[in-house]
Amino acid sequence: MKLFNTLTRQKEEFIPLEEGKVKMYVCGPTVYNYIHIGNARPMIVFDTVRRYMEYKGYEVNYVSNFTDVDDKIIKKAIEEGVTSEEISRRFIEECKKDMSSLNVKTATTHPLATKEIQGMIDMISALIEKGYAYRAEDGTVYFRTRKFKDYGKLSHKNLDDLQAGHRDIKVTGDFKEDDLDFVLWKPKKEGEPFWESPWCEGRPGWHIECSVMSKKYLGDEIDIHAGGEDLIFPHHENEIAQSEAANGVEFAKYWMHNAFLNINNKKMSKSSGNFFTVREIGEKYDLQVLRFFMLSAHYRSPLNFSEDLMEAAKNSLERIVTAAENLKHLQENAAGGETSGQESQWLKEAQGYREKFEAAMEDDFNTADAVSSVFELVKFINTKVSSESSRAFLEKLSDLLRELCDVLGIILDKEADILEEEIENLMKERQAARKEKNFKRADEIRDLLLEKGIVLKDTREGVQWKRA
Ligand code: AMP
Ligand code: ZN
Repeated sequence: MKLFNTLTRQKEEFIPLEEGKVKMYVCGPTVYNYIHIGNARPMIVFDTVRRYMEYKGYEVNYVSNFTDVDDKIIKKAIEEGVTSEEISRRFIEECKKDMSSLNVKTATTHPLATKEIQGMIDMISALIEKGYAYRAEDGTVYFRTRKFKDYGKLSHKNLDDLQAGHRDIKVTGDFKEDDLDFVLWKPKKEGEPFWESPWCEGRPGWHIECSVMSKKYLGDEIDIHAGGEDLIFPHHENEIAQSEAANGVEFAKYWMHNAFLNINNKKMSKSSGNFFTVREIGEKYDLQVLRFFMLSAHYRSPLNFSEDLMEAAKNSLERIVTAAENLKHLQENAAGGETSGQESQWLKEAQGYREKFEAAMEDDFNTADAVSSVFELVKFINTKVSSESSRAFLEKLSDLLRELCDVLGIILDKEADILEEEIENLMKERQAARKEKNFKRADEIRDLLLEKGIVLKDTREGVQWKRA
């Protein structure tokens, strides 16, 4: 398996630190609003990387944080007259709903920055002790950037160029020893959340949280650290400096970065105002379509969002879902029995599409090519199956298609997209219809649910439902 490592700017063979295991950290969103579909790109991309690793038999420890203390959260809280905690709690919940609709698996751990303050204080103390950090007279703690000899190795920047860039943006009123030094801990301002520390009442800088959460949940050395390409500098560069200075070992072996989701070739971002939230797109499309659209491009290529491309993704996805449904239908009506000689031959041929799919994924997660091989498989299936096919043959083809789609996180069962809440509501409506002796409507609802794979059962405790 090869992946492009930002650190070496090369595709490299993936060799895990520990056999059979992958330790992976993905920088998560700052939670002060609904996530936009640009934020969804790294979620979908790295969830797919995880899924492929799991498909290959790796045990993946996947950690992705929520940044729940930040200027933007504080600003929003002040605007609404509520606490920062309330804002972050609300938008973490909303973000989790979006992730679930995008079929992004829950991480092994989703740590929150505000719950890891002690770890941050410990790491900052260790950095001060080793001479990599210092407290300035206003209580701010800075990282002594020039002391870390490898600074710039990820972003391939050199210190003198950085210094030149900094001269123009020098902020007056700070007490840094050097322009390049960055904040590890900062004093509180009036009305802001704060914590006690050996230096001042205050809060952590953004970069230190990921170094600490990665160390706590994955250890000092991890396999993969990932995020959007805007995080390469300064966020990831600073994480490397902090972690490697504190722990004395290489922080992450592979660094993966997704390219931007653009609109009119411009990065989608909250600050530019050119964004759609996942929620907005969800009103128009099944979010599986958004996931499929994202995977139709390579993760390191910029991707332009447009209605046309979403419509194309919708139609393509429909073709795959239709093939899966057709297989299911044929299976239900098929005669039992073994696969015929001809069918066995076809099954061997079908495995060729699995190989193509794997080859694409092994080449730096080329999901665009992997999706093409799924289409070829669909085409193959459509030409080879009929009402004459044996059940075993149909089952094997169906399993193969489902297995590959599962790696991409694409759900093939239409009924799977009915939510429990919708079921409960329909059941209530049916109950009311029965009370009014409107049996026609009651039956309609029963059939509607059945179509979505939900079976109703009358029991002594009332009507219960289960997925067929
Ligand atoms: P933020 O909440 O801004 O820290 O972003 C969370 C994640 O989304 C980070 O990994 C960002 O790099 C990523 N991200 C933000 N905007 C975009 C975009 N337009 N396209 C792709 N990734 C993005
Ligand atoms: Zn981070």
